[in-house]
Amino acid sequence: MTRIVSGDAQPFEGHDKALRPQTLGEFVGQEQVKANLRVFIEGAKARSEALDHVLLFGPPGLGKTTLAQIVARELGVNFRATSGPVLAKAGDLAAILTNLEPRDVLFIDEIHRLAANVEEILYPAMEDHVLDLVIGEGPSARSIRIDLAPFTLVAATTRAGLLATPLRDRFGIPLRLEFYTHDELAWVLKGAAAKMGLSLADEGAAEIACRARGTPRVAGRLLRRVRDFAAADGVELIGRKAAASALARLDVDEMGLDSLDRRYLRALIENYAGGPAGVETLAYAIAEARDAVEDVIEPFLLQQGFIQRTPRGRMAAAKAYAHLGLTAPPPAGRPPATDLFE
Ligand code: ADP
Repeated sequence: MTRIVSGDAQPFEGHDKALRPQTLGEFVGQEQVKANLRVFIEGAKARSEALDHVLLFGPPGLGKTTLAQIVARELGVNFRATSGPVLAKAGDLAAILTNLEPRDVLFIDEIHRLAANVEEILYPAMEDHVLDLVIGEGPSARSIRIDLAPFTLVAATTRAGLLATPLRDRFGIPLRLEFYTHDELAWVLKGAAAKMGLSLADEGAAEIACRARGTPRVAGRLLRRVRDFAAADGVELIGRKAAASALARLDVDEMGLDSLDRRYLRALIENYAGGPAGVETLAYAIAEARDAVEDVIEPFLLQQGFIQRTPRGRMAAAKAYAHLGLTAPPPAGRPPATDLFE
């Protein structure tokens, strides 16, 4: 799914790296998370121990990978990164684990997509720093135990609910990342603009910030497109007008919704009378993968109050009708108001 307001990383975004904050101090927002991390990092350093395992969860693009790198840097240790879908065999993970040095940070993105046989060898590695491997097959198979260096696993997931309880329980430090406020995103944008050598006025930053779905990755992506339009139009200082006109051309509305979000809301309202409708049904109606709907489209619509999640499925809220210029049905259980004296 390629869309400008998707929090998902896209392959051409390698240059994102240059914009990543390098320290906790540079990392904007998530104050509670940063405050906790600071305490735990200092504690681990004072005791010369590996930091407890950290689970970062929240929608894509909120800074999980960035934070994992910062944790390693603040601890002064090596950073190794991999991801759930990449670790197909137990041996893949074993190879990485046996190469870790004491107190290193191993980052596993999308940990909810780890194969069961890989997850199994992760448990003793996390808990006792040992690797139990079975060598050979059949009657001659034997198991060997390898000691590992004490390490810190920093894992990221978009949905903590998908993790098996025994896995979730092995993280001493679970941290939930929240969507960013407009002010925080404006800060992120000012920082990114400075690194890109762009002149971005405060009002320009504010205009982009309020359309970035609370997500720094989206903010950065919008900024790059706004920069392109500004360059094409010969605009030197990006103010509110330049930002707004570029964003309008990108079809991102003033709430940060794009055509896909609007298609989702329209499907829910027009095809399913505002719901409740199951996520599978809705994903099918807009021809998107269920994962994309649950990870990328819905969290922001939920957080902004456009939709509600009920046990029977998704329901459109009054705000969704208003945003699309449609009339909301009267609340269930109450007949429409009529004028008694007519
Ligand atoms: P995730 O791993 O949650 O998908 P990333 O850590 O890859 O997200 O962050 C996506 C982009 O947003 C990166 O370019 C990163 O530099 C930027 N970013 C994320 N969080 C922040 C932040 N708090 N301050 C500044 N930039 C941020």
